[in-house]
Amino acid sequence: MEGNERYISGNSKTHDFKSEREALVSGQNPFVSVLGCSDSRIAPEYAFDTARGDLFAIRVAGNFVTDEGLASLEYSVAVLGAPLILVLGHESCGAISAGIKAVKDHTVFPGHIPKLTDALKPSIEKVLNNPGSLIDNATAQNVKDSVNRLKNASPLLTDALSKGTLKIVGGVYRLASGKVDLIA
Ligand SMILES: [Zn+2]
Repeated sequence: MEGNERYISGNSKTHDFKSEREALVSGQNPFVSVLGCSDSRIAPEYAFDTARGDLFAIRVAGNFVTDEGLASLEYSVAVLGAPLILVLGHESCGAISAGIKAVKDHTVFPGHIPKLTDALKPSIEKVLNNPGSLIDNATAQNVKDSVNRLKNASPLLTDALSKGTLKIVGGVYRLASGKVDLIA
C-alpha cells in the first residue's frame, strides 16, 4: 500500500533495471502474488511501485480464479514463500461489462469469450438487483468471491492461512487516481 501511495503521488522509485536483472538471475523472493485483470491500464508492478522479483502476477481478463491460476498461486506460496495474495479488480472492467451483457441481455460472445462471461456470471447474478452501479457492485462481488474461493479452494492455501504464514485480501483499482481500495 505504501508503494501504491508513491504511485498515486507520482513519486515512484527509479528502477535500475540492469542491476535488478542481474541480482535476480539466481532466484526470486516475491512478497505478494496478485491475481489481476489483463486490462492494459492495470499494471500491478507499477500500481504498487514494486521492483522485479517483488510481485508474482497472474493475469486473466476479469481476475477470477481458474485452475491454472490457482496452481500458479499455490506455487508462489509453497515454493516461493509469498506471504500475501491480492485479488485486484478494477473500475470499468470490460470482462465484467461483457458478463453483465451475457446475464442481462443474453448476449453470446464469439470464440472462447463465453468462458470469461460464464465464470463471472455467478458474482454478477448475486448483485443484479442491488442499488447503485451494477458494474461497480459486480466488480466488488467478483473480488470478494475470488478471495473466498482462494481461502477455501485448496488445502495448500488453507493450511498456510491457518498457520498464519499467508493472508488473502482483495482490492479495487481506481482508474483515474491509481488508488487501490482494499475491500476484502
Ligand atoms: Zn478488467
